[in-house]
Formats: sequence, structure tokens, C-alpha cells
Amino acid sequence: MILDGKAVSEKRLEILKERIEESGLYPRLATVIVGADPASQMYVRMKHRACERVGIGSIGIELPEDASTERVLEAVNRLNNDPDINGILIQLPLPPQVDTTRVIEAVAPDKDVDGFHPCSLGRLLAGNPVFAPCTPQGIMTILEEYKIPIRGKRAVVVGRSIDVGRPMAALLLNADATVTICHSKTENLAEEMRRADILVSAVGKARFVGPEMVKEGATVIDVGINYDEQGKLCGDVDFDAVKDRAGAITPVPGGVGPMTIATLMENTFRAAKLRTCNGTAR
Ligand code: NDP
Repeated sequence: MILDGKAVSEKRLEILKERIEESGLYPRLATVIVGADPASQMYVRMKHRACERVGIGSIGIELPEDASTERVLEAVNRLNNDPDINGILIQLPLPPQVDTTRVIEAVAPDKDVDGFHPCSLGRLLAGNPVFAPCTPQGIMTILEEYKIPIRGKRAVVVGRSIDVGRPMAALLLNADATVTICHSKTENLAEEMRRADILVSAVGKARFVGPEMVKEGATVIDVGINYDEQGKLCGDVDFDAVKDRAGAITPVPGGVGPMTIATLMENTFRAAKLRTCNGTAR
């Protein structure tokens, strides 16, 4: 079975659009981009387009490539204090002179729609998330939509980054999977991976996962966005070699990617609703 993230994201965006309309709220997202990296600019444009589609207002803050940490912090603080802004998204990666940790930690936790603030990650780990990072939360939505059983299943997450691997493991654990996290120092990696009923690869290496790493019938989630030697977009998983062995698999493109943006929209609406609950809505 091909897990069609594009279709799931379309469906979720339509539902979200209706919910936002019914709510009478006008959520607003601010994006912050530093420099002119074409890929980052493209992602930010896609996010603004998604906002427009579902009825979320959006503003974009663009800072020059050589902006200092202080300058970025100043922009974040202004957005923190702006009552019209519900969600703040810092487009990563930031240029090397900017202290990414300080910037992420400066975002007000109630506007942390990307879910990278230690407060958000701590709540996620405590089993009580408010904003989970969009990519792993989007993967949970795919699993849910396709009714892939999670409780009691053995999940293996390859990669331990803050944006994908770690929160993915926490979300699967919260959903009662038995979770293993693998990384570049893991011994007998293929053996660990072969034990997985649900295998999530967030490594960032083209066609890294071959059939010998996949248990027959496993659900394979490919987070990777890579380019092969021919410059062709591909995931971490050798799709053609693995698809007949897997029970279900996400393609690249059209799998995890579209879910990331849909989840960002959902998190932004959630931030707007939470603000209303706290009695601070205009
Ligand atoms: P990072 O580079 O932050 O993390 C990669 C992880 O893979 C690290 O934990 C690293 O281990 C591990 N790793 C590297 N090599 C190996 C190896 N040989 N064996 C086992 N583990 C290994 O990347 P991200 O988590 O941010 O992203 C991963 C991929 O997902 C990238 O391709 C990225 O573009 C994509 N991505 C896609 C998104 C989407 O929306 N579809 C969103 C975010 C990311 P160690 O910690 O030991 O170094």
C-alpha cells in the first residue's frame, strides 16, 4: 500500500479550512527567514500559500544573510509581543553566525507552532504535548488516516535530530509503540531496523534503506529529502527495491513532505484557539 501523504494533506487542509471558517477566528502566522537560500525561500513561499488556502493570515519577515543573532532575536521579540500574531516559524537552517538555539528558545512557547522550543519538546516527552514538531506529527496523521496499528508494535526511528528523530520517537511512544532510536553510532543497524513493524528513516542519505533492512510487511516511512547522483529528488529509502517487501510505504515526493505543511497550518489554528481559551483573544 502506498501511503499518499499528498492526498491526506489535501483532505486535512480542506477540513481545517472549514474549521477555521466556523470558528470565526483569523489565525496569523509569521515566518522569519534569514538570507536568500533558494530552498528555504521555496519552503516559506509554500507555507504562505497554504496559509492563504485555509484562511490563515501570514506575514513574512526577511532578514539579510549577514544578520546577527541580536537582530534575529529582536525580530522574534517583536513578533512575541504582537497580539495579532499566533504562530512564529523560524525557517531553518539559519546562517552560521546566528545562534540557532538562542533564536529557537526566544520564541514564545504559546506561539511555537514549529514545536522546537524546549518547552514544547519537554511537554511532548512528558506525554502532554501542545505543539509537536510538524514533520513527525504529520507522520502520525498519515498512520492514523491509514489506520496503521501502533499500540504494542515495534517502531524503529533512524535519526535523532530535534526536528524529526527525537520527537518522532516520543510521539510513537506516546501512542504505545515500543520504540528504538538508531543513529550513526548504532551497532548492527540493519538488524535493529529489521525488527521494526514501523520503520521511520530520517537520515538524509539517498536510497540508504534497502530491502535487507526491512521486515516483510513493515510500514516504512521515508522522511528523507535527498538528491541522487543524477540530481533526482529521492528519499532515504530505495523505494523500488523496498516497496514489494513493505506492507505500506510513503513515496518521495508525495509522502511525508506535504504533511509537514498541513500540520503547520493545524498547529497555527491550535495556537489561535488556545489564545482564545486563555481569554486573550481580541
Ligand atoms: P539531521 O542531519 O539533523 O539528522 C540525521 C540523523 O541521521 C542523525 O541523527 C544521524 O546520526 C543519523 N545518521 C546519519 N548517518 C547515519 C548512518 N549511516 N546510520 C544511521 N544513522 C545515521 O537531519 P534531519 O533529521 O533534520 O533530516 C533528516 C532527513 O529528513 C533529511 O533528508 C531532511 O532533508 C529530511 N527532512 C524532511 C522533512 C520533510 O518535511 N519531509 C522535514 C525535515 C527533514 P547522528 O545523530 O549520530 O549524527
